[in-house]
Amino acid sequence: MSDNTSKKNIQAIRDIQHFGEEGGVTPVIDHSCTSTFLNTEDMEKVFQGELQGCYLYSRHSNPTVVAFAQKLAAMEYTEAAFGVASGMAAISCTVEQLLLNGGHMISSNTIYGGTWALFQNILSKRPNISISFIDPDDTEAFASAIRPDTKFIYTETMSNPLLTISDIAGLSKVAKKHNIPLVVDNTFTPILVSPKQLGADIIVYSCTKYISGSSDLIAGAICASQDFISQLIDVNSGVAMLYGPVMDSHVAYQLYSRLDHLPLRMLAHAKATKFLVDKMLKEGIENIYYPGLPSHPQHQLFQKMRNSPDYAYGGMITLDCGSLKKATALAQLLQEKKFGLFAVSLGFSRTLLSCPSASTSSEIPEDEQKKIGLKPGLLRISVGLIGDDEVLTKKFISSYNKVCRS
Ligand code: PLP
Repeated sequence: MSDNTSKKNIQAIRDIQHFGEEGGVTPVIDHSCTSTFLNTEDMEKVFQGELQGCYLYSRHSNPTVVAFAQKLAAMEYTEAAFGVASGMAAISCTVEQLLLNGGHMISSNTIYGGTWALFQNILSKRPNISISFIDPDDTEAFASAIRPDTKFIYTETMSNPLLTISDIAGLSKVAKKHNIPLVVDNTFTPILVSPKQLGADIIVYSCTKYISGSSDLIAGAICASQDFISQLIDVNSGVAMLYGPVMDSHVAYQLYSRLDHLPLRMLAHAKATKFLVDKMLKEGIENIYYPGLPSHPQHQLFQKMRNSPDYAYGGMITLDCGSLKKATALAQLLQEKKFGLFAVSLGFSRTLLSCPSASTSSEIPEDEQKKIGLKPGLLRISVGLIGDDEVLTKKFISSYNKVCRS
């Protein structure tokens, strides 16, 4: 992908401008949950599906949420987007809509634990739904798993927590051949990777992470064709409209503003992460999961997929400390030394540390964790963007030596 493409998505964010009342440089927060119809006949037409694009009720659409969605859609090169209450709402609404009449879906087997639990513990228990979990490194296996009733393919661009990279262009070819959509969770790589440009059809986000950047709200978004977004908010059969996990206008306002500095934040996260990994390597620390390592199985693939080398390989590192005991002891020491905070989530301005096997991937049973290579001693590091890289790196190396090498 060319550098030009990366600049285009930043320009796209910049080109969206919603004015406040009296020419304010930011949009207003539209608090209303319902909108007045000046022509009484129009309301019935909206409910009959004969009139679209009207503000009706904020579970259907809200002007501030729409403003955020327009900016996100521009960044993602999709026709439309829809703001929801969480990343899980984005995922569940999308897959429920696609499985409205039941069917089969194919999912990557290394995905966020909550998504895995939704698929395995809720959806696959329904008599009319079945799921195949496939190694994201094996595009051929996705093709082989296709059945006549397969409704879509699901994957994460950079998987949580193993940082496996999915070949979106390859998976898109498989999906297109069978006329089904490819759904991609791009939570770990906003700005870095543009899944739509690589052939994905629906992009889901946990906006709680990098898109917010402040770890102070929960939100999600679905970027897709106008047709799919209209399906989601259909008054008779739209999963977002009828289950109702929509985005609040105050949250949409905050995210609208934060999109402007998302590219700069991603640059800073990526730079700090690469600095830390380079120092780790110099110290002979091995067992690092990071797409920037030539030994990472999809190192070259990621180089081809990313929008620009400026963003390096993102802001995440996963490290195998050998055992859960060591991983938690290292996290404890790193927190005491103020290197980072022991907390789930990612994409915060400060470094966040977590042990996935005992937290955000614990929903995946032990034998399955073993099968997908999710080791108990993993420490996931979401590298922050604030602080002196030299000082922080020294703290990391000395803590690592104390816990993992003594
Ligand atoms: N997708 C990924 C890759 C995640 O890591 C998470 C949460 O950690 C989610 C989705 C769910 O997002 P949320 O917590 O906003 O519901």
